[in-house]
Amino acid sequence: MEIAPYIPGRSTTDDGRKVAKLSSNENPLGSSPRAREAFASAATNLERYPDAGATALREALAAKHGLDPTRIIYGNGSDELLNLVAGAFAGPGDEVIYVNYGFAVYPIATRRTGATPVIAADKDYATDVDAILAAVTDRTTLVFVANPNNPTGTYAPRSEIERLHAGLRDDILLVLDHAYSEYIEGADNDGAMELAARADNVLVTRTFSKMYGLAAERIGWGYGAAPIIEAMHRIRLPFSVTIAGQAAAIAALGDTDFVAHAAAHNAKWRAWFSEEIAKLGNDGLRAIPSQANFVLVVFEGELTAEAAYKGLMDAGYIVRWLPGQGLPHALRITIGTEDETKSVIAALRQLAGA
Ligand SMILES: *Cc1c(COP(=O)(O)O)cnc(C)c1O
Repeated sequence: MEIAPYIPGRSTTDDGRKVAKLSSNENPLGSSPRAREAFASAATNLERYPDAGATALREALAAKHGLDPTRIIYGNGSDELLNLVAGAFAGPGDEVIYVNYGFAVYPIATRRTGATPVIAADKDYATDVDAILAAVTDRTTLVFVANPNNPTGTYAPRSEIERLHAGLRDDILLVLDHAYSEYIEGADNDGAMELAARADNVLVTRTFSKMYGLAAERIGWGYGAAPIIEAMHRIRLPFSVTIAGQAAAIAALGDTDFVAHAAAHNAKWRAWFSEEIAKLGNDGLRAIPSQANFVLVVFEGELTAEAAYKGLMDAGYIVRWLPGQGLPHALRITIGTEDETKSVIAALRQLAGA
């Protein structure tokens, strides 16, 4: 009873109107036509179980990312993998660390195992490696870090992730949740995959739900040392990734044009959106620097986040207000189409009286 159920992003208003949904970090450009085609052609043989080993999907991922296919795990969205890793590596008496304003699935995945959540303080909404290391005790078995983080969009660079890993005991598993890694700008990345390839206590999780635009199909995957993957396999549901989902994911991996286009779109409008929010600084609005496909806007002036949330809903845009996650003073806004992004800024400007 201590588990607060996950609250998904809404797609209708209080009065039932269907409006633009900028509340779940979905891809505003849809998905690759090649993925949709593969999905549709998988509609034959509905009587057959999917490949429980997801062999073709693992091989496609291994080829694309230069990985060992036997060390790839897959699941019904990366949400399933987060639950599996907690189930395999935490239980009553153990402690699981994640940051203040961490991803909403971590407390659920932790508590359902009977383990105790331990929350590390943030540093102006960003991941604070020192705070995480200071929260470690003899009982710590697992640390969850989303990088970029949701709902804050903040990003910890490679040096910080390396410092975090170096500061953890070998028997503590570091889970690096890369749901948004495709959105990180520039050549830099946090080195998570290299870490997962060489260290025995790192699991990286990734998803097809965001950049690949396949949230409906629920496909996530992860990479780590063989014993980690093997432990997760023992407790997973055998057929959690569907035939159509596997086919769509493989096709999506091959469509590099779609991904490049979606990444460029996001980078351009994320920068524009953040600059426009900065212009509303005198009205108390502040955009937390984001490397994801959304921006957390903090309301520190007269206009409250709640009023802005309602005002945006009236204007036809649903964003994410997160009072249940300790953020009653902020809105998480997904970068939408050009038109949606511009309209949200226009509505916010009007609401702020600027
Ligand atoms: C969206 C998201 C996920 C996973 O989503 P799935 O659809 O289950 O793959 C995982 N972690 C974070 C931080 C997310 O925002």
